[in-house]
Amino acid sequence: MVVLSQVNKHFGALHVLQDIDLTIARGEVVVVIGPSGSGKSTLCRTINRLETIDSGSISIDGKPLPQEGRELARLRSDVGMVFQSFNLFAHKTVLENVTLGQIKVRRTDKKAAEEKARTLLDRVGVASQADKYPAQLSGGQQQRVAIARALAMDPKVILFDEPTSALDPEMINEVLEVMQQLARDGMTMVVVTHEMGFARSAANRVVFMADGKIVEEAAPEAFFNNPRSDRAKDFLSKIL
Ligand code: ADP
Ligand code: MG
Repeated sequence: MVVLSQVNKHFGALHVLQDIDLTIARGEVVVVIGPSGSGKSTLCRTINRLETIDSGSISIDGKPLPQEGRELARLRSDVGMVFQSFNLFAHKTVLENVTLGQIKVRRTDKKAAEEKARTLLDRVGVASQADKYPAQLSGGQQQRVAIARALAMDPKVILFDEPTSALDPEMINEVLEVMQQLARDGMTMVVVTHEMGFARSAANRVVFMADGKIVEEAAPEAFFNNPRSDRAKDFLSKIL
């Protein structure tokens, strides 16, 4: 579903992504972990082309991600993104947040978009909040709305960049449970997270990044029980 081949990216002198090769199969859940500054967010941002790359290639569902133009807009809408900071439209209601992209990008008519939005809000457990504004919701509820908004576009893959890092502890599980359910439903997902419980239970594969490189990838069991690289051992000893 997503193929990165020899992707390189610099920020000035900083070589933030170095020869990244990564293939994510349809229905696969890949958890990306690694120290702060290792390039995890940049990796996500290149997959939906919020960042350009210097060399290499990225393709989504067999189609190379172009640098610009109509085709880029279409391919990008196949890639959902859920950020640490929710990023809901503050001046739109919850319902409008979930219908906007459907109406503007997918050209769905308003009634059908609202029907779909209500179904999705119900699926993530916030149907009763549809007419409120984001600021009236808890962080956990806002993040679940953000997930519903991503789902509304029928994405082929959803990227989650530390979706629970900004949440109060008691709200983390309600968001992880929605993500677990998505994983079980067969959604293709790339999840940057420090939630190792989620990684163990939901991931098909763990990708460990350090200093702009993929240092190690393995099934969660193998990775957590028997990390091979010193970098991974060191990282795990600090967080577990
Ligand atoms: P992570 O998500 O793993 O913490 P990031 O991808 O956010 O790492 O950042 C990787 C490195 O790139 C960091 O050193 C960060 O400071 C740098 N960086 C990220 N975005 C930019 C940018 N827009 N301009 C310059 N440097 C950046
Ligand atoms: Mg990050």
